Amino acid sequence: MNLDTATPARKRVLLAAPRGYCAGVDRAVVAVEKALDHYGAPVYVRKEIVHNKHVVETLAARGAIFVDETDEVPVGARVVFSAHGVSPAVHAAAAARSLETIDATCPLVTKVHKEAVRFASDDYDILLIGHDGHEEVEGTYGEAPDHIQVVNSPDDVDSVTVRDPDKVVWISQTTLSVDETMETVRRLRERFPTLQDPPSDDICYATQNRQVAVKKLAPACDLVLTVGSANSSNSVRLVEVALDAGARSSYRIDKAAEIDPAWLEGVTTVGVTSGASVPEILVRDVLDALAAHGFGDVEEVRTATEDLMFSLPKELRTTLKKSGGNPGRGARRELSVQPI
Ligand code: SF4
Repeated sequence: MNLDTATPARKRVLLAAPRGYCAGVDRAVVAVEKALDHYGAPVYVRKEIVHNKHVVETLAARGAIFVDETDEVPVGARVVFSAHGVSPAVHAAAAARSLETIDATCPLVTKVHKEAVRFASDDYDILLIGHDGHEEVEGTYGEAPDHIQVVNSPDDVDSVTVRDPDKVVWISQTTLSVDETMETVRRLRERFPTLQDPPSDDICYATQNRQVAVKKLAPACDLVLTVGSANSSNSVRLVEVALDAGARSSYRIDKAAEIDPAWLEGVTTVGVTSGASVPEILVRDVLDALAAHGFGDVEEVRTATEDLMFSLPKELRTTLKKSGGNPGRGARRELSVQPI
């Protein structure tokens, strides 16, 4: 594969792999679909099940009702918690309304929640690197609000205060820029030299893999298009990562119709990737639109192969098993990166 930046040749597309759906998104979307199949509409979903407009609209058309909070769900009804996770207070509010809950929190987010609980019980000051107001951060923070403070970026480091500088640990949101997070940690460590690391990477495999792939193709690209919604943290990070890695321009689009033809003027190589909540059909539409502009030559740039899959939420598994339905794992339909 020619990733040469010096010899512009034919118009072409470099297509990042891995891209698109991760195991946690696949599981969450399949959970809502199976709940609709089994229980019938409506099925309530607290917040967007995953941060993708197309996915949310498609599920809404099938009978999912998206709400902001559990008090909008009728007493005793069924509600699915999104892949981003919820705090214990949300579980308590759901129990108070006797809601039947299906918890589609990604297991990799649950892992971070457990870290927060464990470090809080050991009385650490926990520095949660992440974006204030993001649902995942709200959920993790809610596990131990007395011990956690949110650090948004390297610029926040100077304002951090802790009780004991020798008893501080950092954890993070799963969908951050790896490089920026490491810069935040570096600055935190300047202030707190014995800062403890989390037991394993909190930025998840899918976020990391998508960033590595886009970093590889970006230097050869005049333009990188990331398919993903504006509230998708990992999609927005891909736009930034592409620019940092040398792409001359980089935009996020929800769908093919948002491509501005002016972006393609004088362009030879277009990179294409998609966030972890994006179904492959939206990428296919973008490739078709680019082909219509003369970019029909598509080369894949693969940096990893993914085969991780998660079991469906246990509440759903148990019900499906009892009824003789299929309690299997997420289906991974439309995935371009097939399980090996
Ligand atoms: S991006 Fe990572 S943490 Fe988020 S749902 Fe996907 S696998 Fe889970």
